[in-house]
Amino acid sequence: MTPKDFFAFAEKHGAKMVDLKFTDIFGTWQHCSYPISTWDEGTFEDGVGFDGSSIRGWQTIDSSDMLAVPDPASVKLDPFFKSPTVSVLADIVDPITKEDYNKDPRNVAKKGLAYLQQTGIADSCFIGPEPEFFIFDDVRYLSNQRGAMYEIDSSEAAWNTGRSEEGNLGHKVGYKGGYFPVAPTDTYGDLRAEMVDELQKVGIVVEAHHHEVATAGQCEIDMEFSPLLQMADQFMWYKYIIKNVAKRNGKTVTFMPKPVFDDNGSGMHTHISLWKDGNTLMAGDGYAGLSELALHAIGGILKHGRALIALSNPTANSFHRLVPGFEAPVTLAMSQRNRSASCRIPMYSGSPKAKRVEFRCPDPTANGYLSFTALMMAMIDGVQNKIDPGEPLDRDIYDMTPEELAETNVAPKSLDEALIALEEDSAFLTAGDVFSEDLIKAFIKFKRTEELDPIRLRPHPYEFDLYYNA
Ligand code: GLU
Ligand code: MG
Ligand code: MG
Repeated sequence: MTPKDFFAFAEKHGAKMVDLKFTDIFGTWQHCSYPISTWDEGTFEDGVGFDGSSIRGWQTIDSSDMLAVPDPASVKLDPFFKSPTVSVLADIVDPITKEDYNKDPRNVAKKGLAYLQQTGIADSCFIGPEPEFFIFDDVRYLSNQRGAMYEIDSSEAAWNTGRSEEGNLGHKVGYKGGYFPVAPTDTYGDLRAEMVDELQKVGIVVEAHHHEVATAGQCEIDMEFSPLLQMADQFMWYKYIIKNVAKRNGKTVTFMPKPVFDDNGSGMHTHISLWKDGNTLMAGDGYAGLSELALHAIGGILKHGRALIALSNPTANSFHRLVPGFEAPVTLAMSQRNRSASCRIPMYSGSPKAKRVEFRCPDPTANGYLSFTALMMAMIDGVQNKIDPGEPLDRDIYDMTPEELAETNVAPKSLDEALIALEEDSAFLTAGDVFSEDLIKAFIKFKRTEELDPIRLRPHPYEFDLYYNA
């Protein structure tokens, strides 16, 4: 699509405004709107200026001017403006050097794909993420001092997994009972259908929508797999649409991985496959029908898994999810069919084309551009260095004793641990200059000073249970 096509698209939809969007390091969409009459074909060359020092982790005040250059191919009709508005995604450029900005996540994904091709290993990388999320009516932060930090008032479920209420609870979703009885147990079928409708209107192919296991309104809407950059763009649209359709219906959605204590959390299992000349490189006659290349790629994921998790599970809350007993992985191992392992090889389809790895660690607080690209970079490193993935762990990891578990390659237990792992193991990301040192440093610094330190300063509600009478 050329700038000409962009203007034709805008005219067809009667759009008088254009909304320019880009993603910051932490995966939040930022935007600014312009009367479309102020743009011409040159805007797609020159970009528009903005204050890069007001975007978290980007520029300092003395070098704040940055350019956002719209990508005409990304144009879509934005469903959430009253007056017809087209949205377009921007790539960030330094106004002095005219170079692509090394902290722009979209730029990282583009460089990652160029690097993949340059290595000769593959020419494309497909991603199929499965983001899960919770729909709530209202979230009130009330410390109940019992480890559940707040009360959640959902039309589907009593707070704290429904078990604290008395009387007849038969009409509510049972504890971990959300997967997946029909209505009236599932009350969100229509709302999900409305979300799917909006996703389809912006060109996202949806495969299915359903309630998830957790009691309190946990849902999942699955997209068909797509090339990495396209999927990272789509994931931004996905969160935007789902949150805004919920809001339009008087609800809120959260993608935080563990909003409810003692119930399932929300993951974003990421299916990934490498392809060359239109053929998959994943299928072969090795373990679980995988090729030697795929096994090495998994070796890379497992080797770099602890660092990778800093990008795929980037919040303090992420680590409340990565615990035994809730279908989330706790150890870095591969397995066919086993949902407690971090790398699952789905065995649903016998077709070699469908062969892929499902990395189960990620959650939907991840920045898709960074998380998907980092996963691909770990696989490239695995292939280049022929990394052995080790023996598969085809048993229920949740049944292992703590001693047995400790002998496995355990996932980090906190964001703190994951950031240290990233600090110590980032060469696989900076290979080919795909991730810049600047970006990794800014990411780690922000996470430590703006998230972990403030959390550390606050007494946790459960401490009252433990220590009040000490
Ligand atoms: N909600 C689970 C998780 O935290 C996953 C459930 C599933 O297998 O879809 O990863
Ligand atoms: Mg799921
Ligand atoms: Mg899955």
